[in-house]
Amino acid sequence: MIPQSGMIFDIKRFAVHDGPGIRTTVFFKGCPLNCWWCHNPESQQLEPELILKPNSEVSEVVGREISLNELMEEVRRDIIFFDESGGGVTISGGEPLMQSEFLISILEECNKENIHTTLDTTGYSSLNIMRQILGKVNLHLYDLKFIDDEKHLEYTGVSNKLILENLKFLDSRKIPVIIRIPIIPGVTDSESNIKEISEFISASLNSIRNVNILPYNRLGEGKYPRLNRSYRFTHQLTTPSDKELNKIKNQLETYGLEVQVGG
Ligand code: SF4
Repeated sequence: MIPQSGMIFDIKRFAVHDGPGIRTTVFFKGCPLNCWWCHNPESQQLEPELILKPNSEVSEVVGREISLNELMEEVRRDIIFFDESGGGVTISGGEPLMQSEFLISILEECNKENIHTTLDTTGYSSLNIMRQILGKVNLHLYDLKFIDDEKHLEYTGVSNKLILENLKFLDSRKIPVIIRIPIIPGVTDSESNIKEISEFISASLNSIRNVNILPYNRLGEGKYPRLNRSYRFTHQLTTPSDKELNKIKNQLETYGLEVQVGG
């Protein structure tokens, strides 16, 4: 029985950075990764949890169960904007593939109603689940952080084996994918890491050539104490400058990749 409800922590209307056009982005709760830099730490646990309101001693619950009908009603409110802008629905998180059955039911509903679907994913799931969503997603935004598995394990808590295999699988089926690299100062932004990612794309993928680089932003840092959790970095990270981002962009472009800053 396909679940007709799932756990989300937000819905953002009129989003313009989560795929083409104007979009409604649904943020699923739950993520199997635990990235040091996560700017949505309230997305990581599958269950609802308490977070202090900003500058306050008062807590609120983050995370709620939503039915498929309720979600689709919210989505349909903006169909006119989707049609005019070439937009649609983006499912983000957390990691949407953690609630794959609910995800599939949303995708199928959108497919029926001709609503463009984008999946923002870490790619961390079984190949079986990737097969199940195949053909139901119009565009994948696919995070790639490290090719070096030890570093991936250290900074995200999981191996990248499934992630790389699933990416190769999507590539082999010529599924539209934009790779997104989070640029985290002193972590993912080294010349050697960008070189390894570029070489992996060039050597192991045939059809995927679009890459977005996403500069680190500090917006999430303040959420950790509000969730009673510690931020893993002991020093303060700074947002990469335009010059630094352009250098990374140029490095990727020397491998024939189509690169955009932001996304
Ligand atoms: S994959 Fe995304 S949501 Fe999950 S922990 Fe990493 S940054 Fe946070």
